[in-house]
Parts: sequence; structure tokens; C-alpha cells
Amino acid sequence: MHDWLIVGAGFAGSVLAERLATQRNETVLVIDKRDHIGGNAYDYHDAAGVLVHRYGPHIFHTNAAVVVEYLSRFTDWRPYEHRVLAQVDGQLVPIPINLDTVNRLYGLDLDPQGMEAFLAERREPVEEIKTSEDVVVSTVGRDLYEKFFQGYTRKQWGLDPSQLSRIVTARIPTRTNRDDRYFTDQFQQMPSDGYSAMFRRMLDHPNIHVELGTTWNETRDRPKARRLIFTGPIDEYFGHCYGHLPYRSLRFEHETRDLEWAQPVGVINFPQTEDYTRVTEYKHLTGQTHPKTSLTYEYPSPTGDPYYPIPREENQELYRKYRTAASRLDDVWFLGRLGTYQYLNMDQVVGQALATFDRINATRTPTAAA
Ligand code: FAD
Ligand code: UDP
Repeated sequence: MHDWLIVGAGFAGSVLAERLATQRNETVLVIDKRDHIGGNAYDYHDAAGVLVHRYGPHIFHTNAAVVVEYLSRFTDWRPYEHRVLAQVDGQLVPIPINLDTVNRLYGLDLDPQGMEAFLAERREPVEEIKTSEDVVVSTVGRDLYEKFFQGYTRKQWGLDPSQLSRIVTARIPTRTNRDDRYFTDQFQQMPSDGYSAMFRRMLDHPNIHVELGTTWNETRDRPKARRLIFTGPIDEYFGHCYGHLPYRSLRFEHETRDLEWAQPVGVINFPQTEDYTRVTEYKHLTGQTHPKTSLTYEYPSPTGDPYYPIPREENQELYRKYRTAASRLDDVWFLGRLGTYQYLNMDQVVGQALATFDRINATRTPTAAA
């Protein structure tokens, strides 16, 4: 019998396993239905020897020094500032939309004040910004919205931006300067040897036992631990008793090309054409030197692994029912992107796991050895 069973070996599960094993000297069994650790951040060397991410591009960025400090125990870093181009009207232009985007697309020579005036003429006043359409049309107007956001979002989510919460497109800023970085966070860096190496170090402890290729359903009837941390889909834990929470999936097509570089930046977005949303060339992210290059194409899909909770009010309402059911359980902790049905980045999940550890420490139970 272990002290803890943790379902899921992604960021949420691995951070908690590490904390419980090292700080409380408790034993942890981590299970994952996949054949590897790392969850969606898993990376590996493909047949050509190029380091790629199995589940699409994972770029680490955060403003939380405490998260960087924590992860730095398990990895060194290489600085990396992510840049993305979008193919719009036959040109490759910077996204987030910035001064160069507007000048190149419309053949203008605006300065930052000129761009501000350009946007002021086009933006549509919205009384209360509720949807992902509201966010964009109230900032840049309808033409740029249609060119960059409407098609991409319909493809990515299978929904129009007007049907999605504002938080989705609010992830992407608009800039009147020439800053073409995708993120402006204080810390922007990639683990030097990749994510999987970092996870291996995190889980390498005599108190941690990892069982791969094992699903929660297989273990739930034979209790192996006194307490449970669940980082899979919360609706699955409850047997979908209130109905299925909707998730968006992706199909990843990985390809290696016999040339050194295929594209000028790490990611190219396709808001107007193609069935895929974006193409990633990993060597930009990882800094690897290799005569060949590997790419991933992302094809959105309604079926498959649950990669994205779908942010809209009716889904939140359903999630709240599960959350209420979860709050009635003693000693079962739900966290992570699937366990809390939230569109969270890696750093936010690490922060959530560290906060959960603090809450566990604050909870006195007969089995706790703290
Ligand atoms: P996961 O990584 O999903 O781990 C959950 C684990 O639980 C999985 O390994 C799964 O197999 C396992 N599991 C689920 N159900 C069961 C079950 N019933 N039984 C056993 N095991 C189970 N974040 C960033 O910060 N930057 C990025 O650039 C970025 N890019 C992304 C790109 C894509 C395409 C996607 C999908 C996500 C991206 N993210 C990015 C988000 C990032 O992947 C997540 O924030 C993070 O991986 C979530 O960690 P987690 O532990 O909550 O979940
Ligand atoms: N988005 C868009 N066009 C783009 C980039 C993003 O419409 O060129 C929208 C789209 O709805 C997307 C969301 O903004 O799902 C968030 O983009 P992000 O790049 O953060 O998505 P993720 O990396 O999480 O898939």
C-alpha cells in the first residue's frame, strides 16, 4: 500500500509526486495510461535524431519566478524567445499583430501613433466584452479579425469566436510597436535537454514508483494507496454522471525533411488556408544542430485525446457540478488542465501543483506524516 496514488504523469502529477516524496517522505505510485512520462509536454528524439514534441510545440514562458526556481532543480535552460508568422493574403506576417503586420499587409508606412489611429478608426465598440469575437473586433476591427482570428478559431475549435469565452483570443495581444515575440513574459526559456529529461529527474526518487500503460479504470477497484491525486479528466473520474465535458482534440502529423531548415521561425500559423492550424519546426525551439529538420502539422479534431477544455459558459456550468461533487470527497485532489477543466499553460499547472502541495500540508489527516 502506497501513501498516494497519482493518476497522470504530466506536470501536475509529477510535481506533486516529487513534493510528496521528497518533502514528506511519503510513498507515491504514479500511473499513466500512456507509455511515457511528461504528459503533453513529452519530447523524444525521432528516427532522424531530431528532438521533437509528440503533442505539438511546448514553449516555456512565465512571470512566476517561484515556478522557474522550482523547475531549475531538475533542468538547465536555454534562452528562447518564440516568434510566429501567419500566412495571410499570401504573405508571411508577424502574429501577434504589430506595426509591421499592418504596414506589410496594407502597404503602409505607419509609425506607432499612425497605427493607433488606424486601429481607432476600425475598432468596433463593444459594450461588454464577453466572447472571443468581442475581444478582437473591439481592438483591431473586423478586417484583421477575419484575416487572423475567425478562420483559425473556427478550424481550431470547431466553433465561431462568438461562441467562445473571451479568454481564448485574449491570449493573443495587439501591439503598435515592432515587438514580434509571441510572449512578453519575464522568463522565456526551454529545458536544455528537453522536457522528458526534466521529468525523469523529477520522478527519480526511491519513494516514487511509476507504472506506465495503466489506466485509472484498471486500478480504481483495487485500492493501492490511502490518498488520491487525479489529473485526468474530472468527468471521467465521476463516470460522466452529469454528462460529458467537451474537449477539443488534435491529430499530429510529424515529418522529417532532408534539409537543414524548412521555415524562418518556430511556428507558422494558417488562419485562411489548409486543414491544419500551424506548422512547428522544432530546431528553432530546441537549438539543436542537425542536417535534417522535423516538423509537426496540427489538425484539429472533435475526437481523440482531450487536449483542450473548451472555454464557454455552458461548459463551465457543467464543470461546476463536477467540482461540487469533487469538493465532497475526502482526500481526493483534482488538478491540472483536465482535472480542473481549465485552459492552463505549463507554468500555471506547476503553480497550481505547488499550491495544492501547500494545501495538502495544511490539511491534517491521520495518515499524513508531515
Ligand atoms: P497532461 O500533460 O495532459 O497530463 C495528464 C496525464 O494524465 C496524461 O499523461 C494522460 O495520459 C494521463 N491520464 C489522463 N487520464 C488518465 C487515466 N484515466 N488513467 C491514467 N492516466 C490518465 N503550455 C505552455 O506553457 N506552453 C506551450 O507552448 C504549450 N503548448 C501546448 C500545445 C498543445 C498542442 C497543447 C495540447 C498544450 C500546450 N500547452 C502549452 C499546455 C500544456 O500541455 C499543459 O499546461 C500541461 O501539459 C498540463 O499538464 P497536466 O499535468 O495538467 O496535463
Ligand atoms: N488564434 C487565432 N489566430 C492565430 C493565433 C491564435 O485565431 O494566429 C486564436 C485561436 O482561437 C487560438 C487562440 O487564439 O486557439 C489561442 O492561441 P494560442 O497560440 O495561445 O493557442 P495554443 O498554443 O494554446 O494552441
